[in-house]
Amino acid sequence: MSRLIVVGGGVIGAASAYYATRAGWQVTVIDQGKFGGGCSHGNCGYVCPSHVLPLAAPGAIWPAMKALLQKNSAFKIRMRFDPALWSWLMRFAMHCNRRDMLVTGRALQTILDASRSLYGELMKSELAGCEWEERGLLFVFQTQAAFDHYAHTDELLRREFGLAAVPYDGKQLVELEPALKTGLAGAWHYEADAHLRPDRLMTAWRRKIEAGGGAIKEQTQFLEFVRSGCRVTGVRTSQGVLEADAVVVATGAWTPLLHEQLGCCVPIQPGKGYSITMPRPRICPKIPMIFEEHRVAITPLESCYRIGSTMEFAGYDVELRGERLALLKNGADIYLHEPFGERVLEQWAGWRPMIFDGKPVIGPVPALDNVYLAAGHGMLGVSLATSTGKLVTELMTGQTPHIDPRPFRVDRF
Ligand SMILES: Cc1cc2nc3c(=O)[nH]c(=O)nc-3n(C[C@H](O)[C@H](O)[C@H](O)COP(=O)(O)OP(=O)(O)OC[C@H]3O[C@@H](n4cnc5c(N)ncnc54)[C@H](O)[C@@H]3O)c2cc1C
Repeated sequence: MSRLIVVGGGVIGAASAYYATRAGWQVTVIDQGKFGGGCSHGNCGYVCPSHVLPLAAPGAIWPAMKALLQKNSAFKIRMRFDPALWSWLMRFAMHCNRRDMLVTGRALQTILDASRSLYGELMKSELAGCEWEERGLLFVFQTQAAFDHYAHTDELLRREFGLAAVPYDGKQLVELEPALKTGLAGAWHYEADAHLRPDRLMTAWRRKIEAGGGAIKEQTQFLEFVRSGCRVTGVRTSQGVLEADAVVVATGAWTPLLHEQLGCCVPIQPGKGYSITMPRPRICPKIPMIFEEHRVAITPLESCYRIGSTMEFAGYDVELRGERLALLKNGADIYLHEPFGERVLEQWAGWRPMIFDGKPVIGPVPALDNVYLAAGHGMLGVSLATSTGKLVTELMTGQTPHIDPRPFRVDRF
Protein backbone atom coordinates (compact mmCIF):
# COMPACT_ATOMS: atom_id res chain seq x y z
CA MET A 1 0.00 0.00 0.00
CA SER A 2 1.39 3.46 -0.93
CA ARG A 3 2.02 5.79 1.99
CA LEU A 4 0.78 9.39 1.86
CA ILE A 5 1.66 12.13 4.33
CA VAL A 6 -0.76 15.05 4.40
CA VAL A 7 0.84 18.11 6.02
CA GLY A 8 -1.89 20.28 7.56
CA GLY A 9 -5.07 19.07 9.23
CA GLY A 10 -7.45 21.80 8.07
CA VAL A 11 -10.52 21.23 5.92
CA ILE A 12 -8.36 20.97 2.78
CA GLY A 13 -5.90 18.45 4.26
CA ALA A 14 -8.80 16.49 5.76
CA ALA A 15 -10.71 16.26 2.46
CA SER A 16 -7.50 15.27 0.64
CA ALA A 17 -6.84 12.58 3.25
CA TYR A 18 -10.42 11.32 3.00
CA TYR A 19 -10.36 10.85 -0.77
CA ALA A 20 -6.85 9.35 -0.72
CA THR A 21 -7.94 6.85 1.97
CA ARG A 22 -10.89 5.88 -0.22
CA ALA A 23 -8.50 5.39 -3.15
CA GLY A 24 -6.48 2.89 -1.11
CA TRP A 25 -3.59 5.01 0.22
CA GLN A 26 -2.18 4.51 3.71
CA VAL A 27 -2.63 8.09 4.96
CA THR A 28 -1.06 9.97 7.86
CA VAL A 29 -2.18 13.55 8.52
CA ILE A 30 0.23 15.66 10.56
CA ASP A 31 -0.56 19.01 12.13
CA GLN A 32 1.67 21.32 14.13
CA GLY A 33 -1.30 22.03 16.41
CA LYS A 34 -4.71 20.41 16.67
CA PHE A 35 -6.43 18.74 13.73
CA GLY A 36 -9.03 21.31 12.61
CA GLY A 37 -7.53 23.95 14.90
CA GLY A 38 -6.60 26.47 12.16
CA CYS A 39 -8.85 28.54 9.94
CA SER A 40 -11.19 25.57 9.48
CA HIS A 41 -12.44 25.80 13.08
CA GLY A 42 -14.58 28.91 13.60
CA ASN A 43 -15.48 30.03 10.09
CA CYS A 44 -19.04 30.67 8.93
CA GLY A 45 -19.54 27.24 7.35
CA TYR A 46 -21.13 28.40 4.10
CA VAL A 47 -20.94 26.06 1.14
CA CYS A 48 -21.72 28.77 -1.34
CA PRO A 49 -21.72 28.23 -5.10
CA SER A 50 -23.08 31.79 -5.27
CA HIS A 51 -19.56 33.13 -4.54
CA VAL A 52 -18.13 32.87 -8.04
CA LEU A 53 -16.88 36.45 -8.18
CA PRO A 54 -13.40 37.01 -6.74
CA LEU A 55 -12.50 39.96 -4.52
CA ALA A 56 -10.30 41.29 -7.35
CA ALA A 57 -13.00 42.93 -9.43
CA PRO A 58 -13.43 46.26 -11.20
CA GLY A 59 -14.02 48.93 -8.56
CA ALA A 60 -12.32 46.98 -5.75
CA ILE A 61 -9.23 49.19 -5.59
CA TRP A 62 -10.91 52.34 -4.26
CA PRO A 63 -12.47 50.65 -1.20
CA ALA A 64 -9.11 48.99 -0.55
CA MET A 65 -7.35 52.38 -0.69
CA LYS A 66 -9.98 53.88 1.63
CA ALA A 67 -9.38 51.00 4.04
CA LEU A 68 -5.76 52.07 4.30
CA LEU A 69 -6.90 55.36 5.74
CA GLN A 70 -9.88 54.28 7.83
CA LYS A 71 -9.34 53.33 11.43
CA ASN A 72 -11.84 50.54 11.76
CA SER A 73 -13.39 49.19 8.61
CA ALA A 74 -14.25 45.51 8.02
CA PHE A 75 -11.49 45.44 5.41
CA LYS A 76 -8.19 46.62 6.87
CA ILE A 77 -4.53 46.64 5.99
CA ARG A 78 -2.13 47.09 8.86
CA MET A 79 0.50 49.47 7.44
CA ARG A 80 4.04 48.10 7.74
CA PHE A 81 7.18 47.41 5.74
CA ASP A 82 6.46 44.04 4.17
CA PRO A 83 7.60 43.58 0.54
CA ALA A 84 5.59 40.34 0.15
CA LEU A 85 2.39 42.16 1.18
CA TRP A 86 3.00 45.11 -1.14
CA SER A 87 3.80 42.83 -4.06
CA TRP A 88 0.60 40.89 -3.27
CA LEU A 89 -1.44 44.10 -3.22
CA MET A 90 0.08 45.28 -6.52
CA ARG A 91 -0.78 42.00 -8.21
CA PHE A 92 -4.26 42.11 -6.68
CA ALA A 93 -4.73 45.59 -8.17
CA MET A 94 -3.62 44.30 -11.58
CA HIS A 95 -6.37 41.67 -11.44
CA CYS A 96 -9.11 44.20 -10.71
CA ASN A 97 -10.49 44.18 -14.24
CA ARG A 98 -13.47 42.59 -15.90
CA ARG A 99 -11.53 40.10 -17.99
CA ASP A 100 -9.59 38.57 -15.10
CA MET A 101 -12.68 38.63 -12.89
CA LEU A 102 -14.64 36.57 -15.44
CA VAL A 103 -11.78 34.14 -16.07
CA THR A 104 -11.41 33.53 -12.32
CA GLY A 105 -15.19 33.37 -11.92
CA ARG A 106 -15.46 30.58 -14.51
CA ALA A 107 -12.71 28.54 -12.84
CA LEU A 108 -14.26 29.08 -9.41
CA GLN A 109 -17.71 28.15 -10.64
CA THR A 110 -16.48 24.75 -11.86
CA ILE A 111 -14.88 23.83 -8.56
CA LEU A 112 -17.64 25.41 -6.42
CA ASP A 113 -20.37 23.48 -8.25
CA ALA A 114 -18.42 20.21 -8.15
CA SER A 115 -17.79 20.67 -4.42
CA ARG A 116 -21.41 21.50 -3.68
CA SER A 117 -22.66 18.38 -5.38
CA LEU A 118 -20.02 16.19 -3.67
CA TYR A 119 -21.14 17.60 -0.29
CA GLY A 120 -24.75 16.82 -1.20
CA GLU A 121 -23.82 13.15 -1.68
CA LEU A 122 -21.47 12.86 1.32
CA MET A 123 -23.94 14.44 3.74
CA LYS A 124 -26.41 11.60 3.18
CA SER A 125 -24.17 9.19 5.11
CA GLU A 126 -20.38 9.69 5.12
CA LEU A 127 -20.37 13.13 6.75
CA ALA A 128 -23.62 12.94 8.70
CA GLY A 129 -23.79 14.99 11.91
CA CYS A 130 -22.38 18.29 10.60
CA GLU A 131 -25.67 20.22 10.99
CA TRP A 132 -25.87 20.42 7.19
CA GLU A 133 -28.79 22.50 5.95
CA GLU A 134 -29.88 23.52 2.47
CA ARG A 135 -31.60 26.86 3.04
CA GLY A 136 -29.65 29.05 0.65
CA LEU A 137 -27.95 32.34 1.50
CA LEU A 138 -29.45 35.83 1.76
CA PHE A 139 -27.54 38.94 0.68
CA VAL A 140 -29.30 41.59 2.79
CA PHE A 141 -29.22 45.34 2.05
CA GLN A 142 -29.97 48.18 4.43
CA THR A 143 -30.25 50.98 1.87
CA GLN A 144 -32.32 51.12 -1.29
CA ALA A 145 -29.37 52.43 -3.30
CA ALA A 146 -27.20 49.44 -2.40
CA PHE A 147 -30.07 46.99 -2.99
CA ASP A 148 -30.77 48.49 -6.42
CA HIS A 149 -27.08 48.60 -7.26
CA TYR A 150 -26.82 44.88 -6.61
CA ALA A 151 -29.22 44.37 -9.53
CA HIS A 152 -26.22 45.00 -11.83
CA THR A 153 -24.26 42.20 -10.14
CA ASP A 154 -27.32 39.95 -10.32
CA GLU A 155 -27.61 40.68 -14.04
CA LEU A 156 -23.92 39.90 -14.58
CA LEU A 157 -24.19 36.64 -12.61
CA ARG A 158 -27.28 35.58 -14.58
CA ARG A 159 -25.76 36.42 -17.96
CA GLU A 160 -22.21 35.17 -17.45
CA PHE A 161 -22.72 32.31 -14.98
CA GLY A 162 -26.39 31.31 -15.19
CA LEU A 163 -26.65 32.14 -11.46
CA ALA A 164 -29.99 33.63 -10.52
CA ALA A 165 -30.96 35.03 -7.13
CA VAL A 166 -34.54 35.64 -6.00
CA PRO A 167 -35.07 39.30 -4.99
CA TYR A 168 -37.21 40.22 -1.96
CA ASP A 169 -38.22 43.80 -1.19
CA GLY A 170 -38.23 45.02 2.42
CA LYS A 171 -41.82 43.86 3.13
CA GLN A 172 -41.41 40.45 1.53
CA LEU A 173 -38.10 40.02 3.35
CA VAL A 174 -39.55 40.19 6.85
CA GLU A 175 -42.18 37.65 5.84
CA LEU A 176 -39.44 35.32 4.61
CA GLU A 177 -37.17 35.98 7.58
CA PRO A 178 -39.00 37.48 10.59
CA ALA A 179 -35.75 37.69 12.59
CA LEU A 180 -34.84 40.72 10.47
CA LYS A 181 -35.95 44.21 11.43
CA THR A 182 -38.48 46.09 9.35
CA GLY A 183 -37.31 49.02 7.25
CA LEU A 184 -34.50 47.23 5.44
CA ALA A 185 -34.36 47.72 1.67
CA GLY A 186 -34.43 44.04 0.71
CA ALA A 187 -32.36 40.98 -0.07
CA TRP A 188 -31.29 38.60 -2.82
CA HIS A 189 -31.64 34.89 -2.05
CA TYR A 190 -29.25 32.29 -3.52
CA GLU A 191 -31.26 29.15 -3.02
CA ALA A 192 -28.58 26.58 -3.95
CA ASP A 193 -26.19 27.55 -1.13
CA ALA A 194 -25.97 25.42 2.00
CA HIS A 195 -24.26 25.60 5.37
CA LEU A 196 -22.81 23.39 8.11
CA ARG A 197 -21.05 23.54 11.42
CA PRO A 198 -17.31 23.65 10.59
CA ASP A 199 -15.93 21.93 13.73
CA ARG A 200 -18.46 19.12 13.34
CA LEU A 201 -17.34 18.76 9.71
CA MET A 202 -13.76 18.32 10.93
CA THR A 203 -14.91 15.68 13.44
CA ALA A 204 -16.73 13.84 10.67
CA TRP A 205 -13.66 13.87 8.39
CA ARG A 206 -11.53 12.60 11.27
CA ARG A 207 -13.94 9.72 11.92
CA LYS A 208 -13.88 8.71 8.27
CA ILE A 209 -10.11 8.99 7.85
CA GLU A 210 -9.47 6.87 10.95
CA ALA A 211 -12.16 4.34 10.02
CA GLY A 212 -10.40 3.97 6.65
CA GLY A 213 -7.13 3.06 8.38
CA GLY A 214 -5.58 6.56 8.33
CA ALA A 215 -3.72 8.15 11.25
CA ILE A 216 -3.84 11.71 12.57
CA LYS A 217 -0.80 13.02 14.42
CA GLU A 218 -1.27 16.31 16.25
CA GLN A 219 1.49 18.55 17.69
CA THR A 220 3.68 17.26 14.85
CA GLN A 221 5.30 20.03 12.88
CA PHE A 222 6.65 19.52 9.38
CA LEU A 223 10.31 20.62 9.32
CA GLU A 224 11.73 19.45 5.97
CA PHE A 225 11.51 16.90 3.20
CA VAL A 226 13.80 13.88 3.19
CA ARG A 227 14.84 13.70 -0.46
CA SER A 228 16.52 11.43 -2.92
CA GLY A 229 17.14 13.81 -5.84
CA CYS A 230 13.79 15.26 -6.88
CA ARG A 231 11.89 12.52 -5.11
CA VAL A 232 10.69 12.87 -1.54
CA THR A 233 11.05 9.70 0.53
CA GLY A 234 9.79 11.09 3.81
CA VAL A 235 9.24 14.14 5.99
CA ARG A 236 11.26 15.20 8.99
CA THR A 237 8.89 16.39 11.73
CA SER A 238 9.19 17.64 15.28
CA GLN A 239 8.34 14.04 16.30
CA GLY A 240 10.81 12.25 14.02
CA VAL A 241 10.94 11.08 10.40
CA LEU A 242 7.91 9.64 8.62
CA GLU A 243 8.44 7.72 5.39
CA ALA A 244 6.27 8.56 2.41
CA ASP A 245 5.62 7.66 -1.23
CA ALA A 246 3.87 11.00 -1.75
CA VAL A 247 3.13 14.17 0.23
CA VAL A 248 0.22 16.62 0.08
CA VAL A 249 1.00 20.03 1.54
CA ALA A 250 -2.22 21.66 2.79
CA THR A 251 -0.84 24.24 5.18
CA GLY A 252 -3.30 27.07 4.43
CA ALA A 253 -2.02 30.54 5.36
CA TRP A 254 1.27 29.07 6.65
CA THR A 255 2.31 27.88 3.16
CA PRO A 256 4.70 30.80 2.42
CA LEU A 257 6.78 29.69 5.42
CA LEU A 258 7.56 26.50 3.44
CA HIS A 259 8.68 28.19 0.18
CA GLU A 260 12.27 27.06 0.53
CA GLN A 261 11.27 23.44 1.06
CA LEU A 262 8.78 23.52 -1.81
CA GLY A 263 11.19 25.24 -4.20
CA CYS A 264 8.46 27.59 -5.36
CA CYS A 265 6.71 30.75 -4.27
CA VAL A 266 2.98 30.70 -3.55
CA PRO A 267 1.80 34.27 -2.96
CA ILE A 268 -0.47 33.71 0.02
CA GLN A 269 -1.22 36.39 2.62
CA PRO A 270 -3.04 35.63 5.88
CA GLY A 271 -6.42 37.44 5.74
CA LYS A 272 -7.52 37.57 9.36
CA GLY A 273 -11.21 37.14 10.13
CA TYR A 274 -13.18 36.88 13.37
CA SER A 275 -16.23 35.06 14.63
CA ILE A 276 -18.35 35.04 17.77
CA THR A 277 -20.36 31.94 18.64
CA MET A 278 -23.35 32.08 20.98
CA PRO A 279 -26.38 29.99 21.88
CA ARG A 280 -29.22 30.59 19.45
CA PRO A 281 -31.14 33.79 20.28
CA ARG A 282 -34.88 33.39 20.93
CA ILE A 283 -35.72 34.98 17.58
CA CYS A 284 -33.07 33.23 15.52
CA PRO A 285 -32.77 33.63 11.74
CA LYS A 286 -33.63 30.52 9.72
CA ILE A 287 -31.53 31.39 6.70
CA PRO A 288 -27.80 32.28 6.77
CA MET A 289 -27.28 35.86 5.67
CA ILE A 290 -24.63 38.43 4.79
CA PHE A 291 -25.22 42.10 5.60
CA GLU A 292 -23.55 43.37 2.49
CA GLU A 293 -22.96 47.00 3.45
CA HIS A 294 -21.35 46.00 6.76
CA ARG A 295 -19.70 42.77 5.54
CA VAL A 296 -21.07 40.82 8.49
CA ALA A 297 -22.20 37.20 8.09
CA ILE A 298 -24.69 35.26 10.22
CA THR A 299 -24.84 31.47 10.47
CA PRO A 300 -27.79 30.01 12.35
CA LEU A 301 -26.91 26.42 13.27
CA GLU A 302 -28.94 23.71 14.95
CA SER A 303 -26.76 23.84 18.08
CA CYS A 304 -25.57 27.47 18.08
CA TYR A 305 -25.45 30.79 16.27
CA ARG A 306 -22.40 32.54 14.75
CA ILE A 307 -21.53 36.06 13.65
CA GLY A 308 -18.45 36.32 11.43
CA SER A 309 -16.64 39.00 9.51
CA THR A 310 -13.66 41.25 8.79
CA MET A 311 -10.65 40.85 6.56
CA GLU A 312 -7.45 42.19 7.98
CA PHE A 313 -4.02 42.00 6.37
CA ALA A 314 -2.00 42.09 9.56
CA GLY A 315 0.54 39.32 8.97
CA TYR A 316 0.54 36.36 11.35
CA ASP A 317 -1.11 38.30 14.15
CA VAL A 318 -2.79 36.06 16.74
CA GLU A 319 -4.32 38.70 18.98
CA LEU A 320 -8.11 38.79 19.47
CA ARG A 321 -8.80 42.52 19.20
CA GLY A 322 -11.85 43.92 20.95
CA GLU A 323 -12.48 46.62 18.36
CA ARG A 324 -12.62 44.05 15.54
CA LEU A 325 -15.04 41.85 17.52
CA ALA A 326 -17.17 44.93 18.17
CA LEU A 327 -17.54 45.44 14.41
CA LEU A 328 -19.29 42.09 14.18
CA LYS A 329 -21.70 42.89 16.99
CA ASN A 330 -22.44 46.41 15.78
CA GLY A 331 -23.15 45.11 12.27
CA ALA A 332 -25.57 42.42 13.47
CA ASP A 333 -27.33 44.90 15.76
CA ILE A 334 -28.42 47.06 12.83
CA TYR A 335 -30.33 44.27 11.08
CA LEU A 336 -31.64 41.76 13.61
CA HIS A 337 -34.30 41.95 16.35
CA GLU A 338 -32.18 39.71 18.56
CA PRO A 339 -28.63 39.89 17.29
CA PHE A 340 -27.03 38.07 20.24
CA GLY A 341 -27.48 34.85 22.16
CA GLU A 342 -27.56 34.99 25.96
CA ARG A 343 -23.80 34.47 26.35
CA VAL A 344 -20.63 34.10 24.32
CA LEU A 345 -19.48 30.52 23.78
CA GLU A 346 -16.39 31.38 21.76
CA GLN A 347 -14.57 34.36 20.30
CA TRP A 348 -12.22 33.30 17.53
CA ALA A 349 -9.91 34.55 14.80
CA GLY A 350 -8.45 32.67 11.85
CA TRP A 351 -6.16 33.36 8.89
CA ARG A 352 -7.74 32.87 5.48
CA PRO A 353 -5.08 31.78 2.96
CA MET A 354 -5.54 34.62 0.46
CA ILE A 355 -4.15 34.55 -3.10
CA PHE A 356 -4.44 37.77 -5.12
CA ASP A 357 -6.10 36.13 -8.15
CA GLY A 358 -8.78 34.47 -6.02
CA LYS A 359 -8.04 30.89 -7.13
CA PRO A 360 -6.54 28.16 -4.94
CA VAL A 361 -3.37 26.32 -5.92
CA ILE A 362 -3.96 22.61 -6.43
CA GLY A 363 -1.53 20.30 -8.15
CA PRO A 364 2.00 18.93 -8.36
CA VAL A 365 4.91 21.02 -7.10
CA PRO A 366 7.18 21.56 -10.13
CA ALA A 367 10.52 21.00 -8.37
CA LEU A 368 9.54 17.75 -6.66
CA ASP A 369 8.27 14.55 -8.28
CA ASN A 370 5.81 13.35 -5.69
CA VAL A 371 4.68 16.43 -3.71
CA TYR A 372 1.29 18.09 -4.26
CA LEU A 373 0.06 21.42 -3.02
CA ALA A 374 -3.52 22.23 -1.99
CA ALA A 375 -3.65 25.72 -0.48
CA GLY A 376 -4.77 29.30 -0.99
CA HIS A 377 -8.52 28.72 -0.73
CA GLY A 378 -9.08 32.20 0.64
CA MET A 379 -12.63 32.90 1.75
CA LEU A 380 -13.91 29.62 0.28
CA GLY A 381 -11.98 26.74 1.84
CA VAL A 382 -15.03 24.96 3.21
CA SER A 383 -16.94 25.48 -0.02
CA LEU A 384 -14.09 24.11 -2.15
CA ALA A 385 -12.78 21.31 0.08
CA THR A 386 -14.54 18.26 -1.36
CA SER A 387 -13.64 18.95 -4.99
CA THR A 388 -10.08 19.91 -3.96
CA GLY A 389 -9.58 16.66 -2.05
CA LYS A 390 -10.96 14.62 -4.93
CA LEU A 391 -8.82 16.46 -7.48
CA VAL A 392 -5.61 16.03 -5.49
CA THR A 393 -6.25 12.28 -5.27
CA GLU A 394 -7.02 12.04 -8.99
CA LEU A 395 -3.81 13.91 -9.88
CA MET A 396 -1.74 11.68 -7.56
CA THR A 397 -3.15 8.46 -8.97
CA GLY A 398 -3.22 9.50 -12.63
CA GLN A 399 -7.02 9.27 -12.88
CA THR A 400 -8.94 11.55 -15.23
CA PRO A 401 -9.71 14.67 -13.14
CA HIS A 402 -13.39 15.43 -12.53
CA ILE A 403 -12.71 19.14 -13.23
CA ASP A 404 -10.12 20.96 -15.33
CA PRO A 405 -7.09 21.39 -13.02
CA ARG A 406 -5.25 23.91 -15.23
CA PRO A 407 -6.60 27.15 -13.70
CA PHE A 408 -5.28 26.03 -10.30
CA ARG A 409 -1.77 24.93 -11.28
CA VAL A 410 1.08 25.74 -8.93
CA ASP A 411 3.40 27.25 -11.58
CA ARG A 412 0.96 29.97 -12.76
CA PHE A 413 2.60 32.84 -10.85
C1 LIG B 1 -14.27 34.58 9.75
C2 LIG B 1 -14.13 33.57 8.65
C3 LIG B 1 -15.26 33.08 8.02
C4 LIG B 1 -15.14 32.16 6.97
N1 LIG B 1 -16.28 31.65 6.43
C5 LIG B 1 -16.19 30.75 5.42
C6 LIG B 1 -17.37 30.19 4.86
O1 LIG B 1 -18.48 30.49 5.29
N2 LIG B 1 -17.25 29.31 3.83
C7 LIG B 1 -16.02 28.96 3.32
O2 LIG B 1 -15.98 28.20 2.35
N3 LIG B 1 -14.88 29.45 3.86
C8 LIG B 1 -14.93 30.33 4.88
N4 LIG B 1 -13.80 30.85 5.43
C9 LIG B 1 -12.50 30.45 4.86
C10 LIG B 1 -12.09 29.06 5.33
O3 LIG B 1 -12.19 29.01 6.73
C11 LIG B 1 -10.64 28.77 4.88
O4 LIG B 1 -10.53 28.95 3.49
C12 LIG B 1 -10.26 27.32 5.19
O5 LIG B 1 -10.48 27.01 6.53
C13 LIG B 1 -8.79 27.06 4.84
O6 LIG B 1 -8.54 25.70 5.10
P1 LIG B 1 -7.08 25.12 5.07
O7 LIG B 1 -7.18 23.67 5.36
O8 LIG B 1 -6.40 25.53 3.81
O9 LIG B 1 -6.31 25.91 6.24
P2 LIG B 1 -6.35 25.69 7.83
O10 LIG B 1 -7.66 25.27 8.31
O11 LIG B 1 -5.76 26.92 8.44
O12 LIG B 1 -5.38 24.46 8.04
C14 LIG B 1 -4.00 24.52 7.83
C15 LIG B 1 -3.35 23.64 8.88
O13 LIG B 1 -1.97 23.49 8.57
C16 LIG B 1 -1.27 23.37 9.79
N5 LIG B 1 0.14 23.65 9.54
C17 LIG B 1 0.69 24.80 9.06
N6 LIG B 1 2.02 24.68 8.96
C18 LIG B 1 2.33 23.43 9.39
C19 LIG B 1 3.56 22.71 9.53
N7 LIG B 1 4.76 23.25 9.22
N8 LIG B 1 3.50 21.45 10.01
C20 LIG B 1 2.31 20.87 10.33
N9 LIG B 1 1.13 21.51 10.22
C21 LIG B 1 1.14 22.76 9.74
C22 LIG B 1 -1.94 24.39 10.69
O14 LIG B 1 -1.71 24.10 12.05
C23 LIG B 1 -3.40 24.25 10.28
O15 LIG B 1 -4.13 23.39 11.15
C24 LIG B 1 -13.86 31.76 6.51
C25 LIG B 1 -12.72 32.23 7.15
C26 LIG B 1 -12.84 33.13 8.21
C27 LIG B 1 -11.60 33.62 8.89
